[in-house]
Amino acid sequence: METSRAHAVLLSSPGMGHLVPILELGNRLALHHKFAVTIFNVTKSGQTTPALNSPHCHVIDLPPISVSHVAPPDAAMVTICAVTMREAKSVISSAISGMKVKPSVLVVDLFGTDCLCLAEELGIPSKYIYIATNALFTSLVLYLPTLDKLIKGEYVDQTSDFQIPGSRPVRPDEVIDPMRDRSNQQYHEMVRVGLQMPIADGILLNTWEEAESSRLKSMRDENLIGRFAKKPIYLVGPLTWDPAVSSSGPIFEWLDKQPAESVIFVSFGSGGKLSYEQTTEVAWGLELSQQRFIWVVRPPTSGSAESAYFSPVESNDNGKGKSDEPFYFLPKGFLARTRDVGQVLPGWAPQMEILKHPSVGGFLSHCGWNSTLESVTNAVPMIAWPLYAEQKINSTILTEELGVAVRPREFPAKGVVGREEIEVMVRKILADKEAFAIRDRVKKLKESGERALSFGGTSYNALSQVAEKVLSLQESTG
Ligand code: UDP
Repeated sequence: METSRAHAVLLSSPGMGHLVPILELGNRLALHHKFAVTIFNVTKSGQTTPALNSPHCHVIDLPPISVSHVAPPDAAMVTICAVTMREAKSVISSAISGMKVKPSVLVVDLFGTDCLCLAEELGIPSKYIYIATNALFTSLVLYLPTLDKLIKGEYVDQTSDFQIPGSRPVRPDEVIDPMRDRSNQQYHEMVRVGLQMPIADGILLNTWEEAESSRLKSMRDENLIGRFAKKPIYLVGPLTWDPAVSSSGPIFEWLDKQPAESVIFVSFGSGGKLSYEQTTEVAWGLELSQQRFIWVVRPPTSGSAESAYFSPVESNDNGKGKSDEPFYFLPKGFLARTRDVGQVLPGWAPQMEILKHPSVGGFLSHCGWNSTLESVTNAVPMIAWPLYAEQKINSTILTEELGVAVRPREFPAKGVVGREEIEVMVRKILADKEAFAIRDRVKKLKESGERALSFGGTSYNALSQVAEKVLSLQESTG
């Protein structure tokens, strides 16, 4: 701590997808800018996400927060995260007050905006919000309080696109999950986030100039941030989890034996679940494609697609579920027929390590932004299969703007994407001619991300600017 130039306190809202990018931001602040970094990992009671740690940051796991008295049992993920962060505020406040070294800066994530006021209350000179996703999502959320006044009725029922100043129009069918039902609490939580974001001194995004160049130019021309937030925006990505441990175990021994870029990795993030019918079609699609695969499988759900978000580890049921047969829900004979080409893992897998392996050539993903960046930074083309949160707009960026993913022709509102279409997509990514062009684009994108993060690159410089501002405010406030 003596040699540190400043002390950053970062808050992570519940869920693996929120902790991972906060840890990586902490790592960069510690390694590149010589900050001492404390991370408060906020969890909700009953959460069972795997523990993460970092040699460069002091990670404090706060006691799990119970929200049963303030959120209904079936509350959506956004509601739970926002409510948990509000409930955690007093614990965080006491923990910060008791720190020996006064923080120089408070950084909250998307669901931590209610905690921004702690900076003033506790005399912390700087406060930032880190939106660990892209600029398109951010512009939509910043504009949401305005849309809330302009649009009557449900967003999904509108017949024209939503014009977001300085950004690409958003189609009614692409809107983020919380905008799908205006009577749900998660919608109001999101509007609140949009209203509170400008309280921060600046907004950090986990994206980079070249990935969103067209939008950023127009965002700046239109001064979206200036007009609605009056705050600077810093692109500091692509920050991805870098597992310190080397990969070992049966799955890596199997991967070592497969040809380069020949395996498709299939996984739906920390929370994703499919229906029974869809799980069946994915199984058949993989089998019919005759390609190699690793599939992280969860028991099917008849409820929401995000239903495993806070308990991905338990949800795997050890692959057993209601019957003694592991993976009882997969088509009869599937495991035996695909034994030579496929690996089925229950519930959770070391995703980043798998994506890094040279035998992996494709990723069928729910398009969570961390998964997206992990795929791109390993030059792995994707099949975009959005399930919840902002994943639909992420899939639009990947397919329509960057051309590094394919996606189903459409996701039937009810019903499923059929096995033939899945078969075709898997082949397109791994085996067909089209695969070469996609692979080429994702390699270029990976390189542009590396340039952005390297010394003197746009993302490196953006975080340096933030660090310098924090330091100068720290000095001027004594
Ligand atoms: N993850 C993992 N193993 C799994 C599922 C997820 O390591 O089996 C990690 C993944 O590498 C990523 C994070 O959990 O870093 C998920 O974040 P993302 O934004 O992709 O999606 P979310 O889970 O928040 O929907």
